[in-house]
Amino acid sequence: MEDMVLETFGLTRRYGALTALDGVELHLRRGEIYGLVGRNGAGKTTLMRMVTGQGVPTAGSVALFGVSGSGIRRQRSRTGVMIEIPSFAPFLSARANLEYYRRQRGIPGKAVVEEALGAVDLLHTGNKKFKAFSLGMKQRLGLALALMNRPDLLILDEPINGLDPEGVVEFRSLLRQLNQELGTTILISSHILTELSTVATCYGFMEKGRLLEEITAQELHDRCRTCLRLEVGDAAKAAAVLQSRLGTDQFQVQPGNVILLFDHLDDPAPVSAALAAAGIPILAMERKGAALEDYFLKLIGGEEKC
Ligand code: ATP
Repeated sequence: MEDMVLETFGLTRRYGALTALDGVELHLRRGEIYGLVGRNGAGKTTLMRMVTGQGVPTAGSVALFGVSGSGIRRQRSRTGVMIEIPSFAPFLSARANLEYYRRQRGIPGKAVVEEALGAVDLLHTGNKKFKAFSLGMKQRLGLALALMNRPDLLILDEPINGLDPEGVVEFRSLLRQLNQELGTTILISSHILTELSTVATCYGFMEKGRLLEEITAQELHDRCRTCLRLEVGDAAKAAAVLQSRLGTDQFQVQPGNVILLFDHLDDPAPVSAALAAAGIPILAMERKGAALEDYFLKLIGGEEKC
């Protein structure tokens, strides 16, 4: 269990009649970048607030670094949090703003300010005032603030929201760098799966307060591969034919006599010929590929995957 940085157990939060979080069981292991994906109102911010102690769950519990109960307060000092862009003083520079927060939070050593500015590439902004910063710079300063206590776990709520495409690329590469060079574990939310797609190493999908699924980036990639979807008379026999006559094992058999074939995408004729020769009727054949966003939409709609 020492690898488990964050775990929630049946985490539930109700606001009157509304259940914002419904029995969430989240698992975040050391070294991962966990993409928490869900539409607006799915419960992502509420989940983060319960984890960071900014709210009290109605039921269930949270463990940070393997510790739950009252001991969790100490563990929270090992986290850096950006749930919304913090209120920075508009007429102060990046450095002066961070220095203000350093003193306010009693973080020892001025060097942490320089270190945090360096980590987010804001060392050379000089006297430029916060109000003149681009949104990307503001987000990076918010991240710098979250980094000042050198956290083992970074919790970021929709940090990419509103950034221009260049800003998105920069922010993602910054997160990768923090993860790879400092070993920081990251929980990051977004309502757009593709925003996280090149950075997350695993995903949790939320809808209506529930965590529907946790999967690794590799699993997601595999599930979104382009394939030929074959609906056949007998999937077991068809699978044997694909192996013996076409020499491929690049397929998955799914319920309902459906086979997803990842081979022969550009040349399906031998597939139909081999199945026909074996007397296996093909009821439907179509090329399918799930864009990442489609995967999420199908998941929350409960449709078939691929
Ligand atoms: P968004 O990206 O829009 O913030 P989200 O996935 O973060 O979406 P939450 O902010 O966690 O979603 O909200 C989940 C649900 O809980 C929403 O229906 C929201 O209106 C409700 N909610 C959140 N905080 C409160 C509160 N303090 N009082 C009442 N309802 C709340």
